[in-house]
Amino acid sequence: MEIQYVIINFLILAGIILLFCRKMIVKIFRSRRERLLQQLDEAEQIERSAPPVAPVLAEEELPAPDRRKVEAERTEAEEKLAQLKLFGQRECREIHRVMIEKTKKQFFHVMQKSVAEVFSKEPYLSKMRALEASQVEEILGMIKLTSGDMAYLKRHDVLYVTLTSTYPLDPALVKRVDEATTALLASVGGKTSLWVLQDPGFIGGLRLRIGDTVYDGTVIEELYHFEKGIKRDPISSDDAAKEVLAEFAEKAKNYKSKIHTYQLGRVIQISDGICWMDGLADIMYGEVVEFECGERGMVLDIQPDRIGCVIFGEYENIESGSKVRRVGRIASVPVGEALLGRVVDAVGNPVDGDGHLFCEERRPIEFHAPGILDRAPVNRPLHTGIKAIDALVPIGRGQRELIIGDRQTGKTAIAIDAIINQKGKDTICIYVAIGQKETSISEIRERLEKVGAMEYTIIVAANASGSAATQYIAPFSGTAMAEYFMYAGKDVLIIYDDLSKHAVAYRELSLLLHRPSGREAYPGDIFYLHSRLLERSAHLSEELGGGSITALPIIETLAGDISAYIPTNVISITDGQIFLESELFHEGQRPAINVGLSVSRVGGAAQSKLMKQMASSLRTKLAQYRELADFTQLGTDIDEDTRQVLDAGARLMEALKQGRYQPLEDWKQALLLFAVSEGFADHVEVSKLYRFERALFPFFEEQYPALVERLKTGAKADAALLEGLRAALRGYNERS
Ligand code: ATP
Ligand code: MG
Repeated sequence: MEIQYVIINFLILAGIILLFCRKMIVKIFRSRRERLLQQLDEAEQIERSAPPVAPVLAEEELPAPDRRKVEAERTEAEEKLAQLKLFGQRECREIHRVMIEKTKKQFFHVMQKSVAEVFSKEPYLSKMRALEASQVEEILGMIKLTSGDMAYLKRHDVLYVTLTSTYPLDPALVKRVDEATTALLASVGGKTSLWVLQDPGFIGGLRLRIGDTVYDGTVIEELYHFEKGIKRDPISSDDAAKEVLAEFAEKAKNYKSKIHTYQLGRVIQISDGICWMDGLADIMYGEVVEFECGERGMVLDIQPDRIGCVIFGEYENIESGSKVRRVGRIASVPVGEALLGRVVDAVGNPVDGDGHLFCEERRPIEFHAPGILDRAPVNRPLHTGIKAIDALVPIGRGQRELIIGDRQTGKTAIAIDAIINQKGKDTICIYVAIGQKETSISEIRERLEKVGAMEYTIIVAANASGSAATQYIAPFSGTAMAEYFMYAGKDVLIIYDDLSKHAVAYRELSLLLHRPSGREAYPGDIFYLHSRLLERSAHLSEELGGGSITALPIIETLAGDISAYIPTNVISITDGQIFLESELFHEGQRPAINVGLSVSRVGGAAQSKLMKQMASSLRTKLAQYRELADFTQLGTDIDEDTRQVLDAGARLMEALKQGRYQPLEDWKQALLLFAVSEGFADHVEVSKLYRFERALFPFFEEQYPALVERLKTGAKADAALLEGLRAALRGYNERS
């Protein structure tokens, strides 16, 4: 019996739910269907617009085993593409990029083989053999002992020389090398030992290694430089492949050997993204090294008997004992206008699937900060469009303003709103995402694209899934990109989201590099790391073009503790902070800026006169309100004066609330704050204040365009203007 009741009750309940929620359920299903249809549309569109991944070499040009391998990989990639079509545009583009990159690698592999075949036959064979003698002479003329060699000689008394050639060498040539190197070393009081080897893999030419320095005249080295020098888009079609082949055939016809010089080292140990090497005698701190598998790393530790470097990419393919070479430059990133609108990784490679990046210039990721004489005072405002910031903690161009708060308090939201507000203001924005989820970055990108802010924005993404090394260099790379624009006389806004994760990444690297740990296990130089990063933000003097970098670093605190090590560090480096509070955030006061703890040490000079005038008494009023609000929480007995202060404060706090993606122009902010602080909104219920605000601006634009024009100039308001504003506001209130 009971079970029947239960069933009947259940049916009645289900009926009621169905009755009331029918519309909602239908709506959910409909929107889901629409979304799916839209995704399918997008996928179809990308399929139509994507370039066909054609075989890169005509079939007959590929040796059979390679052809099978290429075919198999391509089919696999195509299948994956077909699966991914259902997901949407971005993933499709990404897989396409991977396919193209893969094809490019295969192309070079095949090309190497076919070049070897060509060079092993006449007329190249005798040409290459004839080259040997002249190459030996050329190399002997070039040999110089480096300071690294001298240091090695001091300790070991002997320097090893290896002569490797493609074909067996004439003994007279070997003797010549032996005599010359022995004489050279004898002149500095050292000894030498010559090894003579052969490597048919060179395809042609010879290579001499003395100490860690290599003088290389082989064809394989020439091919390596040829591959690096190819500037065109990844070889993704038959035509492009044929063009490259023709280019090389032309070069090969009148092949002229060139001796390339570089230094080699050896991998001793590799683990956790850190690689220890020996050799590389003259390496510098911050220099880039390249491993045999093509991965690159940056030197971060130099000890007498070993060198430590961090690896940017995947380190699984690096083997201990394998060779590593100096690239000959300090770590740098591509810079230029081409980066605008793109998402790049920490070393400047595009990761948005929108194709190759053509940047002519590169800049070192570490660069000295402008000196005192190169700087101009911070005196031009950078409007964020957020009322609470522009009025109370104004930011000037060239300033470093910290955004600090617990997790989920709207830190990123403020930074993104500030970017959106730069639209049409001739400011380049760079958003450096450190240790964030890929989904949040793609959300940010989509949002910026939607409002048309990507046109002037670069996103540098060092994802949480990436190595600590990439997270460590990302802010430096972003700053290098910003500097390019600053030294070209432009204004840049750079956001580091966030430096706490950056500090953690650096701590990880330092511990792996066996550096002693200090407070909270961070290495002692973490303060220097952040200060040299943030010192690069500046407002340049007129002589240097007057450009600027404004930095908004973000720091995440734990339970509001701003006295922890990293927060105190960054607070003392920056020119002020915007402190966000979870309590305010949960009370609905968003953005959750704690007005008492937030300061801007230099921005006041940059604030427009009008805003300064309107916001002058705001701070005191809000401070009074906070104090009284805390106090009156305890009792209910309040006198009339206190109630008035509380009312006015609550109204001001309400006026400072602002939704996301709704930046407000400066004059609108000034007008609203003037209206509220002068009591023109006193008759409005606090919760209805948004209505008052919403109708205010269109009313002024329609009825008082002259006043609006005056406000837009940002100049100080005189008595006549203030009277005019009061009259207009009275008119507004009467209207409503
Ligand atoms: P995290 O610590 O995870 O990086 P965060 O401090 O950067 O978080 P956000 O991601 O910016 O915080 O915001 C957290 C949430 O609060 C988001 O869902 C966002 O939409 C919401 N939010 C932020 N600012 C506002 C605002 N002014 N009005 C309404 N919602 C907001
Ligand atoms: Mg965030």
